[in-house]
Amino acid sequence: MTSINTAIQLITREDAERSVVRGGTCSPDLARGPWEFDLPAGPDAAPDYGPGASMQDVAPASTPRQGELPEEYRLAGDEELEARILAAKETLGDRLVILGHFYQRDEVVKHADFVGDSFQLANAALTRPDADAIVFCGVHFMAETADILSRPEQNVILPNLAAGCSMADMADADSVEDCWEQLEELFGTEPDDGGRLPVIPVTYMNSSAALKAFCGRNGGIVCTSSNAATVLEWAFERGQRVLFFPDQHLGRNTAKAMGVPLTEMPMWNPHKVLGGNTEQELLDSRVILWHGFCSVHKRFTVNQIEKARAEFPGVRVIVHPECPMPVVDAADEAGSTDYIRKAIAAAAPGTTFAVGTEINMVNRLAAEFPEHTIFCLDPVICPCSTMYRIHPGYLAWVLEGLVAGEVRNRIVVETDVANHARVALERMLAARP
Ligand code: SF4
Repeated sequence: MTSINTAIQLITREDAERSVVRGGTCSPDLARGPWEFDLPAGPDAAPDYGPGASMQDVAPASTPRQGELPEEYRLAGDEELEARILAAKETLGDRLVILGHFYQRDEVVKHADFVGDSFQLANAALTRPDADAIVFCGVHFMAETADILSRPEQNVILPNLAAGCSMADMADADSVEDCWEQLEELFGTEPDDGGRLPVIPVTYMNSSAALKAFCGRNGGIVCTSSNAATVLEWAFERGQRVLFFPDQHLGRNTAKAMGVPLTEMPMWNPHKVLGGNTEQELLDSRVILWHGFCSVHKRFTVNQIEKARAEFPGVRVIVHPECPMPVVDAADEAGSTDYIRKAIAAAAPGTTFAVGTEINMVNRLAAEFPEHTIFCLDPVICPCSTMYRIHPGYLAWVLEGLVAGEVRNRIVVETDVANHARVALERMLAARP
């Protein structure tokens, strides 16, 4: 059985105890092996994200595809895969470091040397400069960031190349360059009397290396969900306004909390001239929000919060800032995955939490902190589609490749792109309080 079925059992048992009515899974395909979605259905079939929260999103034609996973890994049972992973880890020893994202399934995370968010994991890899191989059990942009920050001799490996990120894919380099040209034409490129440039580009960590490099080249910076406010302050010191991509919700929630009126946050739709705005709206703007979102966090609603409050008086509702603004406003608090974990760890025993973030992380928190009642706001189990693509079968396949001297699924960021992206990442580190 897959981890999703395990999650279903866990939720069902716990929900029965809590009398919470739950809504099953968002797709029956989640019970199938991810390899069933790796190969195109036909010669002209477009790539898709597979089952899970992003299954309705349109994947760009350039989405990397994973080749066929050898049959021995597809047919192997959980115990056999676990034994093979452990044996390969033992053989590779300190030559290997495995990173597991908070949203990854348990049977993969259990093999990780470090578990955390994308930036924590990229930094964790830096503590292992002697490792030849960094196996990133996360998604594509995370592996790219690890490659940018690691030594050139280190191989960063993504076990399934189809593990992208639908949000990151919503801002491609060509569309952002086109937007930038239109903004430069409208605003010009000269600083004002205070030395502030017309616009500063800010990209969320959840973006391609090409976009991080774009920010590096154009006086911009990277942010995470932990430091977005600090980064926006940095940008406002240097610019009259900010172009924030790809996540509109993180941008809007952060800027609103800093006092920027919603009327000064137009949305940029890359399919329309001037992003669908008038010149005056852009001239009056403080933050121009890209039309992107996370399909996992878009699922959370104010109704779910009201229901949780009705069923659990005194419940603490804590959500991720990738959730839509009305959800963040209705919650008791909002913060990054690291913030959520620390808030739960610091709470008095017996606290009830309704959490608005990815289901694998919520289930893991519920298991880790049994002194609390912790459940996911969304009654439907719907994990991140692309995290789901990493299965122990792929982990075993890449590790056994390393044992045999073969580097499979290496992620390499071109040197010029990496150099510019590093500039934007270093600005973020310098801006951190
Ligand atoms: S949870 Fe959302 S932002 Fe994170 S990898 Fe999945 S789709 Fe991307």
